[in-house]
Amino acid sequence: MRSVMDLIINYYVSESLNRVLKDKEVVYVTELVSCPMKHYLRERYPTLMLQLNFNEKILLGKLVHEGVESVLYKIMQFGEDAEIEVPVTREVNGVVINGRADIVTSNAVIELKTTRSTKDLPHENHKLQAAIYANLLRKPKAILVYIVLNNEVNILEYEVEPLSDEQLSKLVDELKHKSPAPRFPWECNYCVFKQFCPVRVNKNEGPRT
Ligand code: SF4
Repeated sequence: MRSVMDLIINYYVSESLNRVLKDKEVVYVTELVSCPMKHYLRERYPTLMLQLNFNEKILLGKLVHEGVESVLYKIMQFGEDAEIEVPVTREVNGVVINGRADIVTSNAVIELKTTRSTKDLPHENHKLQAAIYANLLRKPKAILVYIVLNNEVNILEYEVEPLSDEQLSKLVDELKHKSPAPRFPWECNYCVFKQFCPVRVNKNEGPRT
């Protein structure tokens, strides 16, 4: 049998590959909450996305994320109908949006994030992502949960209003028009495409997490 480490790494690498090589016509929820130019550069340089989807920090974050998700699911199952990893698809303005909500209950979407710092929480892109899921799943609210991994484990929660259909439509149009690029001032600093991007901005703002 292969080592446990080998199995875990191969699992996440193949998951990242599937994500990178996905149908070009489909847009992920995460792409709607980040720089629209990335969506087009991903099509041009798909393998660069692996850098974004897979490194040791992200691997640790994924393991913690899935662990917390499973524990919450077990706890919530006793009290109400809860589902995890709920796929959702909707066509908006001719664009097929695809996403997978972490946990969905009868009255909320729960979006989990791991972070190493509590600075500037909750982040605007994460709030937007949670709000989109509340819209797509027609839930009255989203709860954004941060699992803070520094010297001690801390868990913080923020309630987020659903995005309106008009706001979702605007995000889709921004993606189509590749603007605003970047969506947030810090994005270019962390972007795998920055060396090839014609519109990158040099700013020392951030960090994101
Ligand atoms: S370098 Fe900046 S503008 Fe270009 S794709 Fe990345 S985030 Fe967007």
